[in-house]
Amino acid sequence: MFSEELEKISWDETTKAIYSKTDGDVRRALSKERCNVDDFMALISPAATPYIETMARLSQKYTLERFGKTISMFVPLYITNSCTNSCVYCGFHISNPMKRTILTEEEMVNEYKAIKKLAPFENLLIVTGENPAKAGVPYIARALDLAKPYFSNLKIEVMPLSTEEYKELTNHGLNGVICFQETYNKANYNIYHPRGMKSKFEWRVNAFDRMGQAGVHSIGMGVLVGLEEWRTDITMMAYHLRYLQKHYWKTKYSVNFPRMRPSENGGFQPNVIMNDRELAQVTFAMRIFDHDVDISYSTRESAEFRDHMATLGVTTMSAESKTEPGGYYSYPQTLEQFHVSDERTAKQVWHDLQTLGREPVWKDWDASFDHK
Ligand code: SF4
Repeated sequence: MFSEELEKISWDETTKAIYSKTDGDVRRALSKERCNVDDFMALISPAATPYIETMARLSQKYTLERFGKTISMFVPLYITNSCTNSCVYCGFHISNPMKRTILTEEEMVNEYKAIKKLAPFENLLIVTGENPAKAGVPYIARALDLAKPYFSNLKIEVMPLSTEEYKELTNHGLNGVICFQETYNKANYNIYHPRGMKSKFEWRVNAFDRMGQAGVHSIGMGVLVGLEEWRTDITMMAYHLRYLQKHYWKTKYSVNFPRMRPSENGGFQPNVIMNDRELAQVTFAMRIFDHDVDISYSTRESAEFRDHMATLGVTTMSAESKTEPGGYYSYPQTLEQFHVSDERTAKQVWHDLQTLGREPVWKDWDASFDHK
C-alpha cells in the first residue's frame, strides 16, 4: 500500500531538495527522454523558472506525439451535497446549516437529459459529498445505471470505497474514479480534515491501491493547491503516480492541479498561492515527466488560461460545469461547492478549441468495453 511507501519519504527533506535544485539539475532533466521524480523536482523548482519556454515547447511536443490535438471533454454532475465530513475549506462541510439535496432518480434523469442538450457529452463525472448512510454505494450504483443510456463513459468522484465496492460499481458501468488526496502532508492533514471518514489519512491515500486492485480502468489524482507547500505536495503525487503505474500497469491515469477558489463558508483563505505561471510550469513539468498521463483542467481556471494551456499539454477539460447538485435542471440556484471561473457554454468552449486548432473529443470510450 502506498501509505507504507510514503512513510519512507520525508516531507521536509523533499522540500529542501526541491529548493536546492540548480540550473545544472534543470538542464539535466530537460535533456532526458524519461525523467524520474528527482528530475521532476528540478522541473518544478524555482531553478527552472528561466526555462519555462523550453519546457512549454517540450510539453507541446510530447503531448502532440501521444495525444495529437485532441482534448477529451467531460462534464461533472453533483448528485448530492450531503456530507458527513468537516473539510475546513469546503462549503458542503457538515456544520454548515445549509439545505442538503440528494437527487431522486427522476431528478437524476432530468439532469442527464439537460446535460445532453448542452453538447454531445459522453464522459460524465458523477460527484457526491461523503455520506455513505444516505448516499452510499447502492445510491451511486443506481445513478450509474440510470446514466448508462445517456453516456458511454462513467466516472465517479465520491468517498473512498473498499476494493469490493469499486468492483461492484464496475458492474454498473463504472469506468473511472477520481479522488483528490488534497494533501500528502500527513502531519497537517487533520488540520484541514478534522472529523468524519475523511480524517482517516491512510484510508484515503490507500484508496488508489484499492481502485487498482479492483481493476478500475482509469484513476484520477490531485492535490488541492492552497493547503500546503504545493511543490512538495505535487512531488508526493508524482511519487504516488509512479508507484501506481508500477503496481497497476493496466490502468490509465490522470492528474489535476485544482487551485483553491473561494468557498461559500467564506472563512478559509488559501495558505499558499500558485500563480498562472507556476501552474503552467507544473503542467509542463508533469508532461515532461510522464508523456502518457492525462492532464485535466476544470472550469476553476479562466477561459483564457484554459485555451492557452490546451495547446501546450492539457488533454482533458470539463465545460459548462455546475458545482451544485442538480445544477443543470432541478436546482440551478442552490449553493455551489466552489465558483467556476470559465463560465462559457460547452458549445462556446467547443468552438474556441476548434479555432485554436484543437479537436474536442466527446466520445473516447464505448460502453461495450466496460466490465461485465
Ligand atoms: S470537500 Fe468533499 S468531503 Fe469535504 S466537506 Fe466538501 S463535499 Fe464533504
